[in-house]
Amino acid sequence: MKDDNRDPFDPSALVPSEIPAGLDRRKFIMRSAVISAAAVMNGCTRAETEKTAPPPAAEAAKAPAAPAVPLSADLDVVKKGSGPVLTTVDEFYKVGPGPSSSHTIGPMRITYDFYQRATKLPADKLATATKLQVNLFGSLSATGKGHGTERAALAGLVGKEPATVDPKFLDGLRDKPDQVFPVKLGDKSIDVSLKDVIYDATKGDFKHPNTMTVKLLAGNDVLLEQEYYSVGGGFIEWKGYEPPKKNPPKYPFRTMKELRAHADGNKLTIAKVMMANETSISGKSEAEVNAFIDKIINAMVATVKSGLSMPEDDVLPGPIKLHSKAATIYKRAMDDKYEAERGIGGLSAFAIAASEENGRGHLVITAPTGGSAGVMPSLVYGLLEVRKVDRQKIRDGMLAAAAVGYLCKHHATLSAAEGGCQAEIGVASSMAAALTATAYDASSLVVENAAESALEHHLGMTCDPVAGYVQVPCIERCAFGAVKAWTAFAIASNEIASRHRVGFDETVIALAQTAKEMNSKYKETSEAGLALSVTLC
Ligand code: SF4
Repeated sequence: MKDDNRDPFDPSALVPSEIPAGLDRRKFIMRSAVISAAAVMNGCTRAETEKTAPPPAAEAAKAPAAPAVPLSADLDVVKKGSGPVLTTVDEFYKVGPGPSSSHTIGPMRITYDFYQRATKLPADKLATATKLQVNLFGSLSATGKGHGTERAALAGLVGKEPATVDPKFLDGLRDKPDQVFPVKLGDKSIDVSLKDVIYDATKGDFKHPNTMTVKLLAGNDVLLEQEYYSVGGGFIEWKGYEPPKKNPPKYPFRTMKELRAHADGNKLTIAKVMMANETSISGKSEAEVNAFIDKIINAMVATVKSGLSMPEDDVLPGPIKLHSKAATIYKRAMDDKYEAERGIGGLSAFAIAASEENGRGHLVITAPTGGSAGVMPSLVYGLLEVRKVDRQKIRDGMLAAAAVGYLCKHHATLSAAEGGCQAEIGVASSMAAALTATAYDASSLVVENAAESALEHHLGMTCDPVAGYVQVPCIERCAFGAVKAWTAFAIASNEIASRHRVGFDETVIALAQTAKEMNSKYKETSEAGLALSVTLC
């Protein structure tokens, strides 16, 4: 029977008197107090709440745990902060299945890469092959189940690519997990299933929190093995990785200050500088770069439309049983008598629509990640489809937004496993602010100020997805990221630009430093914050 007079925050009343053997007393009391308080406030029993809470420390060896993994200095994602930015749009904006660029798109690219390598082995070696095996470590192991990492990894192994995979294939794996697929390697055919993707150690001496290995075996003998890292935003590296050789950029820059100096010194917009660099680095023509950007813009519009078309009673996959709400919010917001409410409600609904698509595991666009996949599409949709802003201005905005994302990747991180949610939604919001300012022909200083402001006000934001699913807080958080981007643009375009006190580069340094010092429990491990206090009963 419930005692409704209990003080939910009185640990002495809520903590079981027995401390299990082998557990740290202080940590056990803290955890029990949070669980009990959550149980009281949610009207659940303590036992129900305990079921959905992360395990205590003594069970950590066999259950999800915080992988406190420092980044290895020899990873390219760490090293390249010193030279000029060489990232290009076709590396940065990636289409693939949600819900997480680092936990679905990255692992799928990794196993697809391994599959390609394996097909190149000599025929006599392949003739002896008996098994393909994927091992997931660190954050990939701790929260991979909630992201469907095993399904994405298997899809890559059977030769499917993120940009073209039919989401129904991944849904099918979720609904019928026992399916077996033949993988053709030369004349040999090897059967693989989800059983070949192993959730391995969550803690260890890894080069990156998102580490995985893929092996081709002949009995106990290893024919081919590769250690990979999903380093955020769908980017991947592997042991011994050498970045592809690229042509030098026309306007080399390592900071926003240098980028703006090129723009202002040559009487160009940031977008024009970025386009000149895109063509010089990649060797592509402007028309080819624009064609790629159009593909991404169209995919963003499609993901919002698709999300808005979902019925109100649609329930997203996973244990949270979260109902879709994009269509409801949009419809009700449009009925509001005030234009401002319609604007904010609409922008929120567009972001939630695209983010719910991510939660469904449907195709989304990394801008910069899957978890933040609602932010940029919301602004793109709002500007292009509602405000009818000229498409060329949206293209320019996509280039300015890319510059912001490149700089955050270059000097800080785009990975929640390294930097929490500030690295995902924070960077996305900053990119969206740059997009909006550029689309409205703002000066390079206003573009910088808008991007800085949006990033500044996400600093320190933690990543604590409930039950390891990219739904709570992620879906609504995309709406906040979109609205904050608009707010940042509104402030930057209305203030006296030269009086803006904080530079974008300074805020990126703060992002990197905060990422470094953030408690690892708040870096996509689902071990703290909402993941602990929200109960599923
Ligand atoms: S809380 Fe933020 S960083 Fe973490 S999974 Fe959700 S959107 Fe991504």
